[in-house]
Order: sequence, then structure tokens, then C-alpha cells
Amino acid sequence: MDHLLTCSFCGRKKNEITLIVSGINGNICNSCIEKTYSIIHRKFTSKSSDQKHTINNHKEEKNKKINIQIPKKIKKFLDYYIINQDIAKKVISVAIYNHYKKIQFDCNKKNDDDIEKSNILLIGDTGTGKTLLAKSISKCLNLPFAIADATNLTEAGYVGEDVESILTKLLQSADYNIHRAEKGIIFIDEIDKIARKKNNPSITRDVSGEGVQQALLKILEGDIINVPPQGGRKHPDQKMIKINTNNILFIAGGTFEGLETIINNRINQTSIGFIYNNKQTHQNQKQFYLKKIISDDLKNFGLIPELIGRFPIITYLSPLNKSMLKKILTDPKNSLIKQYKKLFEMDQISIHLSEEALDIIVEKTIELGLGARGLRNICEKIFLDLIFNIETLQKRTKILNIDKDLLIKELSKYD
Ligand code: ADP
Repeated sequence: MDHLLTCSFCGRKKNEITLIVSGINGNICNSCIEKTYSIIHRKFTSKSSDQKHTINNHKEEKNKKINIQIPKKIKKFLDYYIINQDIAKKVISVAIYNHYKKIQFDCNKKNDDDIEKSNILLIGDTGTGKTLLAKSISKCLNLPFAIADATNLTEAGYVGEDVESILTKLLQSADYNIHRAEKGIIFIDEIDKIARKKNNPSITRDVSGEGVQQALLKILEGDIINVPPQGGRKHPDQKMIKINTNNILFIAGGTFEGLETIINNRINQTSIGFIYNNKQTHQNQKQFYLKKIISDDLKNFGLIPELIGRFPIITYLSPLNKSMLKKILTDPKNSLIKQYKKLFEMDQISIHLSEEALDIIVEKTIELGLGARGLRNICEKIFLDLIFNIETLQKRTKILNIDKDLLIKELSKYD
């Protein structure tokens, strides 16, 4: 008789399934158990996240004051983490001060004395500290922070991330506290990569370029946006969270390769006899032009005027030279060398790097052409075997002097 048992849910017979569980008035097969479990699980998790959103949607957070600091204090904080880039640090400190003052004093109402939002555009080579600047600001003010890569974004309906996914990240960083997220900071990296493609041969829409710029406008303009709480693509029966982007500060960054030429051409057209001094280095040259940037240059680069208009503050970061890279290696509060020293201290070894060794790290980093990002790359190579053989090192010494010879020996393993 046992073989005649059927699942009361799907009707399949015992010999058609792997397992059947019998109850008082019915039976259930393994496949129906799995399906039921996933239904319950889905329901349970969506309920718990909904609860989380309501719990965190405290009204008091809306009126909670941000600890605004005067620009000099913000700059001083940034000095601990970021080497050089004084102009950018100063411009950002003032922009941040104005932005959060605007929020605090509720000048945000749509009336005649509306203060414009201070979204910031950072221009600078790779690894010059654009992301670090944005991150440090959020740390300084203790605000939620999210990073998005503009190249991953596409217009709604196309393969890639919807622009709303940026707000999901911010919401997650604010631990689903909507009011906190609404005062947060979003860093949009590689904004130059979504510039309108000149001579775009495609007759279809420019999905990854101008289309994304248009899509971004929606959140930059300060609006109530429906955000999928768990990210991913929007779908009709998904529960959305409404986020007002009016007070969210947007910082965009990009290398804007070739922008100097655009600025140069404009200057040469408008001012006769304005000749650039050839003797200056490439680094000074770039800085020289970026100092003179106006929004028309960005338009010529391929950004749409509406988007440019949303970034009233434009500043630039200088390319890093040898002495700056050396300082980055050792000076900031959480510099790479300080981090390695700490790691070795935990193994009761104190490390010391000679000046010559530091110089070699810097030279190798410059060869990589990744800005300060290359420093980590080189350090990881140097320290890989030393840390892998830590127990041998511990037996041998309590002080490890990393000089030119040791460094060259470790790096030569990768030649
Ligand atoms: P970008 O966004 O400009 O490409 P990042 O801010 O991501 O560059 O920098 C990469 C890494 O290089 C950072 O994590 C930081 O450690 C280091 N770095 C870059 N510029 C600086 C700087 N000016 N001061 C201190 N560290 C820096």
C-alpha cells in the first residue's frame, strides 16, 4: 500500500519522488517541502527588511543636527589623510561647510532665497586621491557614504545597474535609516567615461553615455526617488522606499583625459599671444590648464549642460610627484608603512625602512603609472614572502631593517 501514497500538494506518487512525509490527513513530497520552504523564506526575509526600514525611519533623525565644522577644521582633518592637493581640500571644505549649513538652516524650501546645492566635480589623474577625499569627508562628518562607478550604470531597461542602485548603496550604508541616508554623500567615479561619444556611429541611443547622464540627472536634481531596498533591477511588485535626494551631496570624479587640449584650444582662440611656456613639466602643464577650466570645456568634452549645471563646484587634483608619493607612503594617519609596521608589531617584529628603500618603492610606483594606487601594489610584492615566512623571521630577529638590498631582492622575484 505504501507505494500508493501520493503527495497531497502536487499529486505525484511515491515512486515518482525521492521522499514523502505523511501527516494525519495528508502527505507531502520533498519537492513540495523545498518549494514551500522557499516561499516562507522569501516572505520572512522581505518582512524582516520591511520591519527594519520602518524601525529605522525615525522622525527624530530628520531634525538631528549634523556637527558642522568650520572650513579650516574640515581642511585640517583632511590634512591628516590626504597629502598635498591643498586647492581641492580648501574648495571642498568650503563647499561642505556651505552644503551642510544649507541643510541645517533649512534654506532648502523652494522659495526665493533657495541656496544652490554644492555638488562637487573632482578632476585628476588616477590615484591622486579623489575617492579618498570624498571618503574622508564622510568620515569627518560621520555621514553615510556610497561609491558608484558611472561605467556600470545604464539607462533603465538596459543591461547594467539602474542609477537608483546608487541610492540603495547609500541606504545600506545608513543602515536603512532613510533620514540619515538623505543627508549622506555619494561619490560617482569615472564620470568622464559617460561623456557623449563624439561621432557615435550607432543609430541607436547612446545607452552608456548620454543616456546615463540623463538618467543621473533624475537623482541629481533633488527629487523623491523610488529605490529598491535590496538593489538590483526594479520590478513591478517590488516594495520601494522613497528617498528625497534634495540634501544628498554628490561628488563626482574623473580623469578627463584630453581636457587640457580642449582648454588650450579655447584659450588660444580667445586670447591672442597667450603662449604656454614649454619648459614646464607635464605636471605643471596639466595644473596650468585645469586652473582655467570653465563649464564650456566640460561641454566640449561630452558632458551635457544640464549635468554640468548640477556640479557648480569644479576643482582639480594635481598629479603626484616623487616627494608627494614618498610622503603618502609614510605620513598620513593610516599610511601604508604605518599599517605594515602595525601588522609586524603584532608579530613582535619592528620594521624599519631606509630612505633609499622608500625611494625605490616610489620609483617603481611611478613606473606603474597608477598614481598612489601603485604604492600598495609594490608594497604587497615586497612584504608577501616576508609575511608568508613570518615564523622563520620571528625566530631570527626582533628588528627587521628593510634596506635597498632586501627590497631589490624581494622585488626581483617578480622580474
Ligand atoms: P582616485 O580616486 O583619484 O583614482 P584614490 O583616492 O582611490 O584615487 O587613491 C588610491 C589610493 O592612493 C588611496 O587609497 C590612498 O591610499 C592613496 N592616495 C592617493 N592620493 C593620495 C593623497 N593625495 N594623499 C594620501 N593618499 C593618497
